[in-house]
Amino acid sequence: MSIKLADIAEQLGLEVKELKEKILELGFEIAPRARVVDDDVAELVLDELGGENSDDAEPESEDVADVYDEMIAQEREREIVKSQRKKTAGRNDKKKSADKPKEVETVTSKSLEIGDSISVKEFSEKTGVNAAKVIGELMKNGILANINQQIDFETAQVIGDDLGIKLKRTRGAAQVEDFMSGNIDNLLQEDDKGDLEQRPPVVCVMGHVDHGKTKLLDAIRDANVVDGESGGITQHIGAYQVKKKGRLITFLDTPGHEAFTSMRARGAKVTDIAILVVAANEGVKPQTIEAINHAKEAGVPIIVAINKMDLPDSTPDKVKAELAEHGLQSEDWGGDTVMVPISALKGEGVDEILDMILLSADMLELKANPVREAVGTVVEAHLDTGLGPVATILVNTGTLKVMNNVIVGNTYGRIKMMCDHTGKALRIAPPATPVRIAGLNKTPKSGDILQVVKDEKTARSRAEEINLISKEKDFEQLSGMGKVLSGIKSDKILRLVVKADTKGSLEAIKQSLAKIKDEEVAIRVIHGGVGSVTKSDVMMASASNGLVLGFHVDYDSPHVKKTAEREGVEVKFYSVIYALIEEMKKLLTGLLDAEIIEVQLGRAQVKQVFLTKKKTMILGCKVLGGKVEDSAKIKVLRGQDAEGEDAVAGEGKIDSLRKGDDVVKEVTSGNDCGIRFMGDIAVEEGDILLVYKEEEKHRSIS
Ligand code: GDP
Repeated sequence: MSIKLADIAEQLGLEVKELKEKILELGFEIAPRARVVDDDVAELVLDELGGENSDDAEPESEDVADVYDEMIAQEREREIVKSQRKKTAGRNDKKKSADKPKEVETVTSKSLEIGDSISVKEFSEKTGVNAAKVIGELMKNGILANINQQIDFETAQVIGDDLGIKLKRTRGAAQVEDFMSGNIDNLLQEDDKGDLEQRPPVVCVMGHVDHGKTKLLDAIRDANVVDGESGGITQHIGAYQVKKKGRLITFLDTPGHEAFTSMRARGAKVTDIAILVVAANEGVKPQTIEAINHAKEAGVPIIVAINKMDLPDSTPDKVKAELAEHGLQSEDWGGDTVMVPISALKGEGVDEILDMILLSADMLELKANPVREAVGTVVEAHLDTGLGPVATILVNTGTLKVMNNVIVGNTYGRIKMMCDHTGKALRIAPPATPVRIAGLNKTPKSGDILQVVKDEKTARSRAEEINLISKEKDFEQLSGMGKVLSGIKSDKILRLVVKADTKGSLEAIKQSLAKIKDEEVAIRVIHGGVGSVTKSDVMMASASNGLVLGFHVDYDSPHVKKTAEREGVEVKFYSVIYALIEEMKKLLTGLLDAEIIEVQLGRAQVKQVFLTKKKTMILGCKVLGGKVEDSAKIKVLRGQDAEGEDAVAGEGKIDSLRKGDDVVKEVTSGNDCGIRFMGDIAVEEGDILLVYKEEEKHRSIS
């Protein structure tokens, strides 16, 4: 349902023009000539601007953390909108106008595809609208611009609307393939680095079971909520944010590396920093090593929290020594890994962990563009009995807004509700904010990508396109060796997760694998451990497009085998090291680009040409030497070239071979044969057929 702008303006005691400006400031889109708005927008606007209706709106909960205080967020949003407008009106950045034109594509009819900005001159050229008229239209909208100035996409769109020209933004038109393979990189690309702003770091907590991951996540959350929020009901939506020194930090609150890995397995990149929790009384355990390897493989820096320092049997130095064995050297021992002794139980050292996170974040220079449409990643999702499909989205870049039309994985929708981990309703979510949203048509999967699109129609058609293609191509079907091969295609590294029955055999396998060397391809053991093949091993291989090797071990449970099948991960078991090594060599050999060599089989002379079709001929031949084989390739030799060599007149292949009335596989020297020849050349009587086959010669690895 729509509501007249005039009615809303009257309620608010504003002019319609003023109301439109306010609506734009609030971050909603509105056409300059619009007379009506959606009732949901109207409600939000009335609520925001203090109209009579605001009493009907849901009361705002008071008990909210200031980090989530909507006013701050909205203020920020207003600033963004304002600065964007200012930039547009006052821009005389010559460099920009020199850089940008490349983005513009040729226009056919009255539609134009542009990037984030376009110069007035180009706009005029591409649309065929007189530059003076464009400038005039800009002036009507309160923007003073000269012919060489850049106008941003939004402004261009407003002018375009007025002139009846459809504008499309080139950036952000996600490839269906990117969506399906979870490739978020293309979506996050920024043309104009000037729009990038610092964003909060996204942190996950990993480590061995019972070492205190959950306790630490709770301690961080509890100690860093502001007064008032503690009374609110904290919801576990998969992520939360805290504020430290006035800066936000986002935590993924599913402890352990499962969530991290399964998201990574789907191509999602959500974590910037990993906190590795190691209990000071127990030290490095198998899952500690797993966590280290997961983080290393994902290229995520680690901060170590040496936990349970309150226990009398804590031995932090021993922990440091053990970690050093796994490549994490403490800073106070001359290494570069930050290790903080803490007690999650008593809340000691937690502040220091947060400080260290901020320090690491500074070094990582984490940035995102808050003024573009949002791109996010699904952290978790489920079907809620009341709300329908709900999903926790971590905004990777851009600002997600209520009422945004979105595509998520292979579904779509319009964001009807958005709230934070305290259940407080939000209207906008800047980069690195985790929010729970409702309004999707289906429940997406964790790791799915969310992208804001212009309208519902676009969202629906994109989702349909994605569904259709996913059915046709079944991207997720890429499995087993196919997956391994595609994994190494990019960087020529075969990634292995090795599980063995004993530490001794694991070391022996690792050493033997290290000896396999080749210039083109390399083996990297991304994780090695003692024990059966677990779900975590499979997920790690999946995330890295690698292979799991088990030595004298089996699957941990039938469930793990199912996971491997579902994830398309190849798991191979061996009982002899030699066999394992040989097979890896063979595998690598197969990955080397094979050399194609021609193996000569024999020569035959054409005695008679029986039947000639366009590309097929029946030839009566006599084998002069060697042999002729079915399916072999043929070079037709006729006459001689300038150097006195047999000249190749054309090429083809043997489609079938007969000796007398019998269909045969080969005919030897001195015999007559009938050849069904396929090729591009009209073979003539007297021609010599050079018969050969092609063989792939693989280079071998020592
Ligand atoms: P997780 O499996 O890594 O998530 O471990 P939990 O956070 O569930 O903690 C496992 C157990 O260790 C619980 O009984 C916690 O109370 C306890 N624990 C966690 N941190 C500390 C700590 O700093 N000191 C002591 N003494 N116990 C802790």
